[in-house]
Amino acid sequence: MEHVILVRYGEIALKGLNRNFFIDLLAKNIRNTLRCVESAKVKKIQGRIIVFLDEADLELAMSRVQKVFGIVSISDAVIIPSDMKVIEENAIKRIREAEGLKTFKITAKRGDKTFPMKSPDLCAHLGDVILNAVEGIKVDIHNPELNLWVEVREETYMYHEFIPCNGGLPVGCSGKGALLLSGGIDSPVAGYMMAKRGVEVIGVYFHSFPFTSDRAKQKVVDLAKIMSQYCGKIKLFVVPFTEVQTTIVELCPERQTTIIMRRYMMRIAETIAENEGAKCLITGESLGQVASQTMEGLGATNAVAELPVFRPLIGFDKSEIVKIAQTIGTFETSILPYEDCCTIFVPKHPETRPKVAEMKRSEEAISEMMIAMMATAVANAEVIKL
Ligand code: ATP
Ligand code: MG
Repeated sequence: MEHVILVRYGEIALKGLNRNFFIDLLAKNIRNTLRCVESAKVKKIQGRIIVFLDEADLELAMSRVQKVFGIVSISDAVIIPSDMKVIEENAIKRIREAEGLKTFKITAKRGDKTFPMKSPDLCAHLGDVILNAVEGIKVDIHNPELNLWVEVREETYMYHEFIPCNGGLPVGCSGKGALLLSGGIDSPVAGYMMAKRGVEVIGVYFHSFPFTSDRAKQKVVDLAKIMSQYCGKIKLFVVPFTEVQTTIVELCPERQTTIIMRRYMMRIAETIAENEGAKCLITGESLGQVASQTMEGLGATNAVAELPVFRPLIGFDKSEIVKIAQTIGTFETSILPYEDCCTIFVPKHPETRPKVAEMKRSEEAISEMMIAMMATAVANAEVIKL
């Protein structure tokens, strides 16, 4: 008997994509997430991926595989020889292991047509075997406490739990994107959602030391680490932003500083994206959430980027974003109270209807010196691999 994790990927997701490319990438992502589980061996079989592993590693491996995008559900299963006696023994064992069980049903599937018993007959037979062997138990076809699946192929797979996963597409199949990652609640969720659609995420964090502390930076590193459970490896660029930000604050009209700062963030992130082969920028903005996220604010921020800017949270309420952040495990870190560069030097009356032409005019005073400052910021970005 061998312990395995059965991995199911959605057939729908395969349409229009190259099937083998998709499955190979998914298998690779599963291998990567299981690097810390020494006993794990990932194999592709007809229509599934299976992970062989020691029973002791099952819990850890399940929790990691569950987070990989492109998977519809997983089951913890045993593989046994397709021999009737062995199947019977294991069916009894699995039912006995579920202590206090009152009702069950068998769902048998005969994939191997050379096996002597057809699926409905096998269901009935194993049902009888269990009723004879286990006391105080009944069959309930419609609402059983435990549904024991017996899939007879060349070997037989036995399992009783379908653990739903997050679906989506395997990370990497949709190319690379640069996520503007702050320490807030929104941007980690935005990155998660793009990774769900197959985007490999790199992070760009603007750090205004000493106005933003080392702890603020560590918080972003921690967030990227949590995200990497879903997104796979993340390359995080910590961009020194103090010089750019203080220059804007000194030389631009106060009410425009937030938007102008955001325009420079986009410009720098775009340079990093291009250096890294990323084909889009990603932010955690949501329409109307704060003063800089009005239609005009987003427009003024967008205007400086040539790459498409994806904002997967644009139509989400804060409460909906918080719910996702809690589910994926970033929320508790995000609410730690360290400053972000957006929360320092906040204008008293920020511009909520900025006009691109006005922003351009205000930027004229700094645009020359910004060329060098932006280049320095990109060159001095610290790269952290997670
Ligand atoms: P978040 O919760 O993601 O910080 P927010 O609601 O606080 O978002 P803003 O602070 O206006 O909103 O930031 C909007 C978006 O700009 C963020 O979602 C993020 O993508 C990006 N951003 C803001 N600050 C930074 C930063 N210091 N480094 C990188 N990106 C940033
Ligand atoms: Mg923020």
